[in-house]
Amino acid sequence: MGDSREGGCACGSVRYRLTDEPLVVHCCHCLNCQRQTGSAFAVNVVIETDFVELLSGEPHVVDVPRDDGSTQQVYRCPGCQVAVYSRYTWPELRYVRAGTLDDPASVSPDVHIFTRSKAPWVELPPDVPAFEIYYDRDDVWSDASNARLEALIARQDA
Ligand SMILES: [Zn+2]
Ligand SMILES: [Zn+2]
Repeated sequence: MGDSREGGCACGSVRYRLTDEPLVVHCCHCLNCQRQTGSAFAVNVVIETDFVELLSGEPHVVDVPRDDGSTQQVYRCPGCQVAVYSRYTWPELRYVRAGTLDDPASVSPDVHIFTRSKAPWVELPPDVPAFEIYYDRDDVWSDASNARLEALIARQDA
């Protein structure tokens, strides 16, 4: 990748760099994301944990309850408490909050998910796939991204 993406928290103590392209960029309209962000949706850059290079600071991990009874690990700056990324089921994947990128406009959603709870005043672009709940990866991800995830699964099973 030519120009790597960097980002960080508000106070500047946590800084990170994404060393590869996102696997996929989610715009999630679920109620967990709305509650966590205090906004109408979350924009998550999904990428392998190995490709999130911590440049400075050490985010601390907060277990955040979700409506389904599970918890999600949110990584926050210990100083300003801004959430820079989170982890769901898989430790091998990070969901980087796009708004913490130095250039948030450098990414845009590949897919809108959980639109069943979308705020009624949010209008979705007609040319981006949108799903009431979730989707089948083969229908949305690029071949390259699917191959990267398959490789990750293979490493996990090894
Ligand atoms: Zn901070
Ligand atoms: Zn969500």
